[in-house]
Amino acid sequence: MGENKVYDLVIVGGGPGGLSAGIYAMRAALVTVLVEQSIPGGQVVLSDEVENYPGIINISGAELSQKFVEHAQSYGLKIVNQEVTEVLPGLEYHTLKLGNEETLKSYSVILATGGSPRTLDVSGEREYYGKGVSYCGVCDGFFFRNKTVVVIGGGDTAAEEALYLSKLAKKVYMVHRREELRAGMILQERIKSECKIEMIWNTQCTSINAGDEGVNSVSLQSTVDDKKWNLPTDGAFIFIGFNPNNKLVPRGVKMNAEGYVITDEKCETNIPGLYVIGDLRAKYARQIVVSASDGCIAALAAAHYVENKKAGETCELPEQIPAVTGNK
Ligand code: NAP
Repeated sequence: MGENKVYDLVIVGGGPGGLSAGIYAMRAALVTVLVEQSIPGGQVVLSDEVENYPGIINISGAELSQKFVEHAQSYGLKIVNQEVTEVLPGLEYHTLKLGNEETLKSYSVILATGGSPRTLDVSGEREYYGKGVSYCGVCDGFFFRNKTVVVIGGGDTAAEEALYLSKLAKKVYMVHRREELRAGMILQERIKSECKIEMIWNTQCTSINAGDEGVNSVSLQSTVDDKKWNLPTDGAFIFIGFNPNNKLVPRGVKMNAEGYVITDEKCETNIPGLYVIGDLRAKYARQIVVSASDGCIAALAAAHYVENKKAGETCELPEQIPAVTGNK
């Protein structure tokens, strides 16, 4: 990729945010490369159906992702399949270390690394991952045709996944720690009217149990009284939110207590030329359309930043590197 070349923009992460940034960056004639460690598309690839991306009534996550990739590549966006291992901010340019020992230099960087599923941290979860424990209905639901599964969680993801699994499994128990779902009203209505889904309210899963054939039950405990019991199941699907993928966020970048990066309205962090978008950024709503919008904003801001930089304006790092918060 050329040791001495300085890119205008390096985008890290190929989900809806990163790819939207790529589209806007190419349209702004920035010399750009997008680095993605696995297949482009991000978490949305795992969604069975997307029904809230404006202009598209219903589409699979995989197809929507493919459209983002094709759109970005139609402008000639270069996508490199590599892991970024470190981002080192600099005064003149930022440096990114790659898994293959190469480095990239760039005047601006957009981090779009999203988040990963949160774990329940109960006994059996780690041991039986892939043997009945799953974090993705679309990936693993096929193995549970005409079987019984338990979905743990009460948010949009848990609701969507329970509905997806109800098309395959003979019975879906949805275990939620409160008496009201966090999921949006439309999903709540669908859950109520799906006869294969049975809600188990006010209940926590305390362990996942297995025999030679894999998962065979979950241990449950009421959150309102002392009741404890075992529920036989062939699989446990866990959807209890996610954690931001913030391990590449350089030291000194402001984060909130949950490890999400704090930016200004341009998606710029407290390090000039370093932008954070999508699910890694602290914000109110985590939706595909919001990530796409972040990508647009950050790319337009980066274009302005790079233009000023090339015109000779100096941009200084803050004198005082603020205290690091979050899980770094
Ligand atoms: P979420 O909204 O944070 O919901 C997590 C759920 O898991 C909550 O019901 C929570 O219970 C429960 N939970 C958390 N920790 C738990 C624990 N230790 N034990 C048991 N239950 C636990 O996460 P999400 O559903 O993954 O959604 C993440 C974001 O993506 C949200 O902003 C969501 O709106 C968005 N999203 C949108 C769509 C869509 O619009 N199509 C689809 C998927 C996700 P409490 O309710 O009691 O806190």
